[in-house]
Amino acid sequence: MSPVTSPRWTDAAPTPFWLDTPSRPEPRAAHTGIADVDLVVIGAGFTGLWAALQALETAPGSSVLVLEADRIADNATGRNGGFCVASLTHGDANGRARWPRDMPVLRRLGDENLAAIVDTIERYDLDVELERTGELDVAIAPWQVDDLLEESAVLTDAGVAHTFFDEASIAAEITSPLALAGLLDETGAVMVNPARLAWGLAGVIERLGGTIAEHSKVTSIDRDQSGVLATTPGGVVRAKRCVVATSCFPALVKRTALRVVPVYDYVLMTEPLDEAQLASIGWRNRRGIGDAGNQFHYLRLSADNRILFGGYEAVYRFRQQVRPDFDQDPAVFSVLEEHFDAMFPTLGEVGFSHRWGGAIDTSTRFCASVTLSHDDRVATVNGFTGLGVGASRFFAAAALDLLAERTTPATLLEMVRSAPVPFPPEPIRYLGITATRHAIARADANDGRRGAWLRLLDALGLGFDS
Ligand SMILES: Cc1cc2nc3c(=O)[nH]c(=O)nc-3n(C[C@H](O)[C@H](O)[C@H](O)COP(=O)(O)OP(=O)(O)OC[C@H]3O[C@@H](n4cnc5c(N)ncnc54)[C@H](O)[C@@H]3O)c2cc1C
Repeated sequence: MSPVTSPRWTDAAPTPFWLDTPSRPEPRAAHTGIADVDLVVIGAGFTGLWAALQALETAPGSSVLVLEADRIADNATGRNGGFCVASLTHGDANGRARWPRDMPVLRRLGDENLAAIVDTIERYDLDVELERTGELDVAIAPWQVDDLLEESAVLTDAGVAHTFFDEASIAAEITSPLALAGLLDETGAVMVNPARLAWGLAGVIERLGGTIAEHSKVTSIDRDQSGVLATTPGGVVRAKRCVVATSCFPALVKRTALRVVPVYDYVLMTEPLDEAQLASIGWRNRRGIGDAGNQFHYLRLSADNRILFGGYEAVYRFRQQVRPDFDQDPAVFSVLEEHFDAMFPTLGEVGFSHRWGGAIDTSTRFCASVTLSHDDRVATVNGFTGLGVGASRFFAAAALDLLAERTTPATLLEMVRSAPVPFPPEPIRYLGITATRHAIARADANDGRRGAWLRLLDALGLGFDS
C-alpha cells in the first residue's frame, strides 16, 4: 500500500498571494458624517478605482469620494491572475457571436483601452510588475488543436495579428507533455501584479484630490433633490452622480439584482522556482497562458518566478452568496494540484505557498454592462465574468460618459447600451447553472462536442463561464 500523503497545498497560506505583503497600505479612515460631492463611487476594486481616477482626470478639481465596504482590492481585484487583456468582450469569439458588426470598433477600443492602462502605469510611475508578455492559448487535447486552427483562420480573415504554434514550435514557449499547439496574441495582453495596480491607482486618486474611505459599506442609495444620497453606517454622502462598482455583492440597485451571479474561481501559487526548475519547463518568454478547454486553466509567472495556477472549476453555490468561508475549497485545490502535476511533471516536488479563491461576477453574456437608474444619476457596472482587469477601465469610462450624457464611440455601442438576459430566480438558477456546468464538463470529455443543452443555450445567446 502506498503511504497516504497530505496534499502539497495544505501548508500554503490561505490568503491571496498579492495581498500578503508588508507593502499593503494601511487602511484609510472610514467615512463619517455628511459629505457633499460631485461623484460618489461605491466599491474600490478596479471598476470603482478606474471610475474615480478617470473622473478626476476628466474634470480636475471636481470632488470624488470612493466608499469601500472592506479594503481596497480585497475582493476580485486583489485575487485575480493579473492577466490584463485588451478584449472587452470576454474574448474575440464571444464578441463575434454577439456583436459581429461592431467587432472592428470593439477590437480598436479594446486595444486603445489596454494602451491607456499601460500609459497610466507609466505616466504615474506605478510599480506594478508590468510584463508585456502577451497571452498564449495552449491546446492540451487534440480537439483543441483543431479549435485553435479554426480560430487562427477566423482571425487571419479579420486581419487580427496572431501566431499559431504547432506541436514542434510550441515547445519553444512551454515544455509540457500536455502542450500540443498554441495561439499567441502578442500585443493583446500584459501581466500585472493586480494588488499593486489597485493600490497605485488609489494613490493617484488621492494625489488628484479624491478621497477613499475603507470599511464604509453603503447600505442604501436614494434619489434626492440634487442627485443621490448614499448611506453608510457612519454617515451620508450627497452626490450629483454615483457609480456603483460592487461586482456580485448584494445589489444596491434592485433592477441589477439578477444581472450577475457570484461564481467562485480558485488559485494555487507555488514557491519561487529555482533556475533548474525554470529551465525544465522552458517558458522563456513568460507568456500568460490559458488552455483551450471550455473548463480552462490559466497560469503565469510572478515577478519572483512563482507559478500562479488557477481556474478549471467554476463553483456556483445555491442562492448566490459571497462569503469569506467560500474563499477556500479543498476539493478544488486537490483538482488544481493534480492538473498542475500533469502539466509540469518535472516540478513534482515544488511546494505551494498560497491558496485562495474569489467571487467572479458572471453574466449570461460573459461581459460587463452599464445600467442607469435613479433618473440616470446612478450607473451600475458589473458582469465581467472573470475578465475585468483591463475591461474595467473601459466600462468605468462608459459609465461616466453615460452619466454626463456625453456621446462617445463607447456609448454608441450595442454592448454598452444593451443589458444581459437576467438569470432566473432560485431554484431554477441553481439547477440551470449546475446542468450547464455538467454539460460543459461532458463537452470537454467528448472532444469538445457540445451536447443538446449547450447548443440550445448557444442558440439563445446564453451561457455560463468564468
Ligand atoms: C480568482 C480570480 C481570478 C481572476 N483572474 C482574472 C484575470 O487574470 N484577468 C482578468 O481580466 N480578470 C480576472 N478576474 C476578474 C477580475 O478580478 C475582476 O473582473 C476585476 O477585478 C474587476 O473587479 P470589480 O472592481 O468589478 O470588482 P471587485 O474587485 O470585487 O470590487 C468590488 C468592490 O465593491 C465592494 N463593495 C461591495 N458591496 C459594497 C457596498 N455595499 N458598499 C461599499 N463597497 C461595496 C467590495 O468590497 C469590493 O471591494 C479574476 C477574478 C478572480 C476571483
